[in-house]
Amino acid sequence: MAYFNHKWETMSHNELKDLQLEKFKKQVKHIYNNQFIKNRFDEAGLHPDEIKNWDDIKKVPFMTKDDLRENYPTGLISGNWDDVVRVHMTSGTTGVPTPMLYSQNDLDVWTECMARNFTAGGLRKSDVVQQTHGFGLFTGGFGFHYGLEKVGAKIIPTGAGGSERQLRLMQEWGTTVFTGTPSYAAYMAEFAMERGIDPIKDLKLRLGFHGGEPCSDELKERINTRLGYKAHGGGMRRCYGLTEMGGPITMDCEYENGIHLWADHYLVEVLDPETHESVEEGQPGELVISNLSFEVMPLVRYRTSDNVIVSFDTCECGRTHPRITKFVGRLDDMILVGGTNIFPSQVEHMLLKHSELSENWQLVVSDKKGLHALKIEIEPIAGNEVDEKFVAMLEKELHQSLAKKCPVEIKPVGSLPRFEGKSVRVVDKRK
Ligand SMILES: [Zn+2]
Repeated sequence: MAYFNHKWETMSHNELKDLQLEKFKKQVKHIYNNQFIKNRFDEAGLHPDEIKNWDDIKKVPFMTKDDLRENYPTGLISGNWDDVVRVHMTSGTTGVPTPMLYSQNDLDVWTECMARNFTAGGLRKSDVVQQTHGFGLFTGGFGFHYGLEKVGAKIIPTGAGGSERQLRLMQEWGTTVFTGTPSYAAYMAEFAMERGIDPIKDLKLRLGFHGGEPCSDELKERINTRLGYKAHGGGMRRCYGLTEMGGPITMDCEYENGIHLWADHYLVEVLDPETHESVEEGQPGELVISNLSFEVMPLVRYRTSDNVIVSFDTCECGRTHPRITKFVGRLDDMILVGGTNIFPSQVEHMLLKHSELSENWQLVVSDKKGLHALKIEIEPIAGNEVDEKFVAMLEKELHQSLAKKCPVEIKPVGSLPRFEGKSVRVVDKRK
């Protein structure tokens, strides 16, 4: 087992806890420099000096995405504007972006986390990496690039799109590692096969680091098989992160026991979204993260809206840091249709269980005479016949799982959109 930073990645649970408490106390004093945050503390009748032990952490007010929007662009800075060397942001559905600002030290912490992730996932200096996450305001491209570079792999920074060229580069350079969204990985497999290139025989891909959107176990398995990751002795590693914590910061290790979160830089709590009490280990709850190391705009007790299960045991790989073992659903992605909550990831899980169906699908929500209606459009895998009996069976399964009627329309192969970045699975036609 290779480590990027053996000492920090394998420190004992007690050492980690002591370190986290010390860093948390220091970080709370630091963010108290910010007027908005100071007001929050004052409203709660709390002074940073009162944070002394683990129970006191719970007294610290939460932060949310709304706080970032309300303080856009620079209102949440706790450090110095002069130290800022980079700005990233997400577009956000409401139109007000969610920004993140970094000092050089903050970028170094992010790079270190990513280098640990890539090494844990099996990346080596000898690997040739095609990096397709976009280089722009979105955090993915730069986070991946600097982490890969730190490990010393050979990066081809293609950015997103241009699938014809991506495929040619894979052949010419013997690319072993592919990064990007899971939907782009699935599309690349289809794209290669259509051109008579079999990834298992004709390409050398062995690792995929894929993130930026939810990915069901079924889709992961398909990518593993079709792009040849498993056949070439590797696998797909899932990646999770959020701009509010710096960007992508966590990934699967080679054992794929869950996504490692680096506890020396991030304090993780899993809370009941209603009562805000910690859930029992192994139970799902909202992921709340405190950034312990950033200096310009660290967010403390940030509510991610992600519903997860976290394990705090030592992983088989020897790393002692907590792991997200299951994503129950991203509350932000949930759609409400006629009083029923639906997670697109749940729909994907239901659909991709069937080997006849492709990963090209969309959920159409419409408004028919004031009633919200759902429909799934999906393509079969080329060469597969899907008859009425199959569709009826699928509709029954969906009805049972989603507690909502959901007709299925089988579309011709190649008729639905393909994605080179984040996929759009929900088409909401409601006014
Ligand atoms: Zn591990």
